[in-house]
Amino acid sequence: MSRPRTAVVWFRRDLRTHDHEPLVEAAAADRLLPVYVFDPERYGTREFGGDDSFAYEKTGGFRTRFRLEAVADLRSRLRAAGSDLLVRVGPAPATVADLADDVDADAVYAHTRPTPEERAVETALAERLADAGVAFERYWGHTLYRPEDLPSSVEEIDDTYTPFRHAVESEATVREPLDRPAVPARPAVEPGEIPTAEALGVEPATDDDRAALAFEGGETAGLDRLETYLWTTDSLREYKQTRNGLVGRDYSSKLSAWLNEGCLSPRRVHEAVERYEAERVANDSTYWLVFELLWRDFFQFQFAKHGAQFFAREGIRRREIDWREDPAALARWKRGETGIPFVDAAMRELTETGYLSNRGRQIAASFLANDLRIDWRRGAAYFETRLVDYDPASNYGNWAYVAGVGNDSRNRKFDVLGQAHYYDPEAAYVKRWVPAVEPLEPADAHAPWRLSAERRRELGVEYPDPVLELPPADETDE
Ligand SMILES: Cc1cc2nc3c(=O)[nH]c(=O)nc-3n(C[C@H](O)[C@H](O)[C@H](O)COP(=O)(O)OP(=O)(O)OC[C@H]3O[C@@H](n4cnc5c(N)ncnc54)[C@H](O)[C@@H]3O)c2cc1C
Repeated sequence: MSRPRTAVVWFRRDLRTHDHEPLVEAAAADRLLPVYVFDPERYGTREFGGDDSFAYEKTGGFRTRFRLEAVADLRSRLRAAGSDLLVRVGPAPATVADLADDVDADAVYAHTRPTPEERAVETALAERLADAGVAFERYWGHTLYRPEDLPSSVEEIDDTYTPFRHAVESEATVREPLDRPAVPARPAVEPGEIPTAEALGVEPATDDDRAALAFEGGETAGLDRLETYLWTTDSLREYKQTRNGLVGRDYSSKLSAWLNEGCLSPRRVHEAVERYEAERVANDSTYWLVFELLWRDFFQFQFAKHGAQFFAREGIRRREIDWREDPAALARWKRGETGIPFVDAAMRELTETGYLSNRGRQIAASFLANDLRIDWRRGAAYFETRLVDYDPASNYGNWAYVAGVGNDSRNRKFDVLGQAHYYDPEAAYVKRWVPAVEPLEPADAHAPWRLSAERRRELGVEYPDPVLELPPADETDE
């Protein structure tokens, strides 16, 4: 479109000023209004919908806090640049459209998202803006690759990761991140207060000093974490060897929350990895971080291709599985009281801190879906509530994958005990989160039910019996 006189930039899960194409494009306007809307639709109890609908809490305390901090950080950055961030609470489409009307905007600029709820909000806004004769400019900006840079159309992308990866690695290029633009003056509108978690109907998060990392929302903290992980602790050098870790700050990058709220652009991370490769070391670990970011891209494009089918119980593979209803077992899983310490440790870490390692997520998910055979979407919805780094595509995509209804036809059932012995040989992880097994030798700490009731009493171990009988561990299992 021709250069607008007045533009609105609608910030969503792209809470940053670097590599932000809508901001760059809108900065050509004479006046620019940056806006963020807390939509009550995203908080509180909601119905999952579809077959066997159930209620769940959409956004829990950890992600809410992270987002509030990220909005505050964006506001300070925009203020430092001579502008501001308008903050409103209300239905996003009507609120943005009304603001555009108030300031007589010619155009609204925003990032697009492929996941159904985010898309529906965009569509509703697009209709309102079209009625008002205001242009709506949308940009894809949350993955390494852009859809138009892929070797095939989104509809033709392979449903299996490896062919997708080979295709992009050989035929596509990751673009350079965009610089921050100078931000034009803003129209005089009351900036508004950033709400509290309570005002959004969310119980505030409480801290646990066992947390892997104190996740602080915002571009500033995200860029700091990238700097620390690559340059200060030099941890990227060994990522491939450490990434299956369970305890500590630096076994993995911990960038996911900043990536998913958009505080960090994946292209900015990619650029940093390339610089690290040029200045420090290029090895299988530096490659592997990008390999994992490609998994993230893969699920985003899979959602662009398959849409809401990802939320169906039978998944994109339309596989009918006889899922069980077992509210008591589901509740024990959520509380971390299944009686299987490795699963319980993972669930307690998730519930108490909002973060869980990739290994822990795989174990907890596989146990619910493949051992208990409980509808995988109940587990995915619980993750949606708790995770600080929740993203619809990464969460439901990974859950469907583990449950055997997603992007892989192999059996993804994990041997929970084998995994426990392999990845937690000293039982340090389970003892951290399940103190009841502290007095036990590592092998017993992973399977306390093998000790007689009398022996457990002697040792003072009070812990529930397992919710189901697990097969013996395959000690070689990875
Ligand atoms: C059941 C289940 C649910 C999950 N839900 C989410 C979710 O809601 N949000 C989310 O970001 N990740 C999710 N993941 C993927 C992965 O567990 C997390 O991205 C990772 O643990 C985040 O920690 P990190 O940033 O230290 O990861 P690192 O190991 O340092 O990886 C670097 C980045 O690569 C991306 N990545 C790594 N693995 C995956 C993967 N399997 N799928 C997609 N992206 C990946 C993430 O952006 C991550 O930040 C889920 C995995 C499982 C098995």
